[in-house]
Amino acid sequence: MTAMTSPPPALAQATQAFLSSDHGLLIGGARQTGQAGSTFETFDPATGQVIARVAEGRAEDVDLAVKAARKAFEGGWAGTMPIEREKLMWRLAELIEAHGDTLAELETLNNGMPLFLSKFSVSSAADMLRYMAGWASKMAGETLNPSTPGEWHAFTLREPVGVVGAIIPWNAPLNMAVWKLAPALATGCTIILKPAEQTPLTALFLGQLVQEAGFPEGVVNIITGFGETAGAALAQHPDVDKIAFTGSTGTGKKIAQYATGNMKRVSLELGGKSPMIVFPDAPLEKAIPGLTMGAFVNSGQVCAAGTRLFVHASIFDQVMESVAAQASKFKLGHGLDPQTTLGPLVSRQQHDRVADFVRSGLADGCAAYMGASSPDSAGYFYEPTLLVNTARDMRVVREEIFGPVLCATPFEDEDLSAIAQLANDTEYGLAASIWTQNISIAHKLSKMIKAGSVGVNTHILNDAVMPFGGFKQSGWGREKGREVLDLYTQIKSVAVSL
Ligand code: ADP
Repeated sequence: MTAMTSPPPALAQATQAFLSSDHGLLIGGARQTGQAGSTFETFDPATGQVIARVAEGRAEDVDLAVKAARKAFEGGWAGTMPIEREKLMWRLAELIEAHGDTLAELETLNNGMPLFLSKFSVSSAADMLRYMAGWASKMAGETLNPSTPGEWHAFTLREPVGVVGAIIPWNAPLNMAVWKLAPALATGCTIILKPAEQTPLTALFLGQLVQEAGFPEGVVNIITGFGETAGAALAQHPDVDKIAFTGSTGTGKKIAQYATGNMKRVSLELGGKSPMIVFPDAPLEKAIPGLTMGAFVNSGQVCAAGTRLFVHASIFDQVMESVAAQASKFKLGHGLDPQTTLGPLVSRQQHDRVADFVRSGLADGCAAYMGASSPDSAGYFYEPTLLVNTARDMRVVREEIFGPVLCATPFEDEDLSAIAQLANDTEYGLAASIWTQNISIAHKLSKMIKAGSVGVNTHILNDAVMPFGGFKQSGWGREKGREVLDLYTQIKSVAVSL
């Protein structure tokens, strides 16, 4: 069993001050209680204790936020000088860094992730804002050369899509917020952000920083609340031009349906069941830590997590032993304890879901090479779990678990198309990794894999320049990189007869 760390140290004063303040909605530049006046509790998943109450936004609050966002969009935000948007985004990035310790503590407290991860989230959120800020002044249309008789000046304009509704999950709350906020702000859109009900705190803190940075009122609005009320109201709202959603494939399908009411643009970043494929010549000194983190980082609550491990039969036993040895070094515990390297799952519900999946795997004939149990704790911890004797039709192999559960399978084939078939035997297509020193295998297989991101001798590269999104049921569209501009802008073609 993985070692548990000791109880967390006390919170910093700034974090305590934020926790004991009012957690209202941010609408049109003002903090407000919801129209219905209701609130909901938010928890520390490492202890199961309530840490704050936040305002519960509902349909009527969503409506007010959409009106505020529309007013800000039509009232000048879309027409601001790109360099002004860029400056504001840089200011926000600097404020995120200046308040990085508080943001990291809140992220850890609310989501459970270890402090080293929430600190990384803070710096990558700031970097994402700076990267996207540059596009404000660099994105452009192009001139065209028609073949129609006559003399023409023909060109395209790239215009912001308008009012954006962003619905995000609980697994990386700060980063998911910034992945939506940054391209919206850079392109001149206004936004209503709905964080997940499990993890509202860093989004609310970010809202304060948005105000401090000096964004005009109504450009960024934050509605905390539940999916089936606030989230659905946002996705169905007739005056929202685009929905950007990250979450489960099931909810993504509902969002796509809601969006048909006014034919809003939709981008979806959904589930995954990503393969990691290990060849006999893999650089194991890199592969073992890489595979272990690929599967278990953030307790497996990562949409791109490597959850299906295919290892060449000649090194299968060696890799199982080494991954298990590496994973047993994790220290489970409260994320605020600096010793902790693996935190709890986000909620009781998620913990029980993961435990159910593992039980079903064992009942279907898997063997637990390690883990498959919860330590004795009030928090929602689950041991890193390695399942062997897996088969393609088992639920643990087919469905997204979103927990620290890795299913391993040996392969004997030398034929790359048979290996690609194993890897592609899923309804998802978010990420994949290939572990080999053979560049020919690496490049050929990268092309054959049906996934939006492929890593070679790394699982995923989390960097602002890398477009990210899914093939198949893992989603629609690409976030990050230059490609995200297509999701937040639309093209107008203009023809001038000279
Ligand atoms: P999970 O089941 O793991 O919580 P979801 O995909 O349901 O993942 O949640 C991701 C986000 O989608 C959250 O912000 C949640 O509130 C929101 N959500 C859930 N159901 C709906 C819905 N029917 N309409 C709109 N948003 C929803």
